Amino acid sequence: MDLKSGYPYWAVKNGLMNAFPPLQDDLRCEVAVIGGGITGALIADELAGNGHDVAVFEQRDVGWGSSSASTALLQYEIDTHMTDLAKRYGQDDALLAYASCAEAIELLQDKARDIRDVDFAWMDSLYYASKRRHAGTLRDEFALRLSHGFQVELLEREALAGRYGIDAPVAILSHQAARIDPYRMASRLLARLRKRGGQVFDRTRIERIQAGSRGVLMQTSEGQQIRAGHLVMAAGYASQHWLKQNVARNRSSYAFITDPIEPEALGALADTMVWESARPYLYMRSTGDGRLLIGGEDDSVDVPARRDARVDKKAKTLRRRVAELFPELPLQPAFAWAGTFAETSDGLPFFGPHPQHGPRLHFAMAYGGNGITYSMLGAGLLRARIEKRKHRLSELFSFKRLDR
Ligand SMILES: Cc1cc2nc3c(=O)[nH]c(=O)nc-3n(C[C@H](O)[C@H](O)[C@H](O)COP(=O)(O)OP(=O)(O)OC[C@H]3O[C@@H](n4cnc5c(N)ncnc54)[C@H](O)[C@@H]3O)c2cc1C
Repeated sequence: MDLKSGYPYWAVKNGLMNAFPPLQDDLRCEVAVIGGGITGALIADELAGNGHDVAVFEQRDVGWGSSSASTALLQYEIDTHMTDLAKRYGQDDALLAYASCAEAIELLQDKARDIRDVDFAWMDSLYYASKRRHAGTLRDEFALRLSHGFQVELLEREALAGRYGIDAPVAILSHQAARIDPYRMASRLLARLRKRGGQVFDRTRIERIQAGSRGVLMQTSEGQQIRAGHLVMAAGYASQHWLKQNVARNRSSYAFITDPIEPEALGALADTMVWESARPYLYMRSTGDGRLLIGGEDDSVDVPARRDARVDKKAKTLRRRVAELFPELPLQPAFAWAGTFAETSDGLPFFGPHPQHGPRLHFAMAYGGNGITYSMLGAGLLRARIEKRKHRLSELFSFKRLDR
């Protein structure tokens, strides 16, 4: 499946950063990872950095899946409000999910600092009520987060207009968010993996998988066989093809990026990402080179050709909506694109084995608007599973949640 269309900015900006050879011979390794996107890269890095023998298999070029299409806002704020998660799973699990995502941003900062030059920067996150009837929900959400120690402020209409020029009933301002270049991060992590002795193969498509109780046998489209003690399925939205059970639904999201905007005109948007309570939501954030990256207009289109045909119209709608919000902002679109993502019913991801394949095949489904923070958490979680250690998120992020 084609996972993006048009030219995502990250791919244009960075080009093909690292090319890896295709697999030529049969191979044995301790952990095989299918997928060279940000999820596979973070998991492989975590494992290799802790002494595991890892090989990554990517059917195209690494990072070229939805990771290159991502707008990469790093937030602890999950698409499902903490109040709603608490109603569904209880306060403890809601707090666990939110607090873990906040921690994940710090872990991503550590990784970014380590590998350098991936446009990581801390930002504020402004979540405004799109409609007056959403105001009560946002106030409840604010109160719950504040009571659990999150760094949040409630901005009433006047303060919101004064500080950000936004006309909305109320907003939650969070001081724990960040941005990153996800394509560059994935590529640099995988290059480091190679230097550390791990293996990375581009243009190597896994076509068959046989998972047993002691290991996993895989076959590529060219007929090579791979034997691994464990398999991590980090194939993005394609991971669902390996399950009979329906665990998520695919969606398309649309984005465009502007030409660089003068700092005076960008104002508070230079270090504040903005999103809203309507679903699907409009979202925007700046880049290190002073552009504004704008996304939203999600729909249920799951056919690449139909999705591609919508990019121009969707980008125009996104531009109109931002212009309504910030009439003074110069918005000159430079690139527009679309990408596939998947949503789970509760906004949480799935990391771990599924009964269909047994304990040696670990799914890494970082689905939802917080995909990248989930991938960071999934790296620690799956490493713990492979090392037969307990992890605080194993249960909540497992497929067992579907039986609750
Ligand atoms: C427009 C858009 C905006 C987004 N915005 C945000 C955001 O602001 N914040 C956020 O956190 N997340 C965001 N996301 C989600 C985030 O981008 C994803 O969670 C993340 O990129 C998923 O990474 P991945 O590595 O799991 O998947 P991918 O990047 O898709 O990587 C999976 C890889 O597996 C490969 N593969 C699949 N099958 C096989 C096979 N059989 N053999 C070999 N290789 C295979 C694919 O080629 C692909 O490269 C956004 C997504 C989109 C599309």
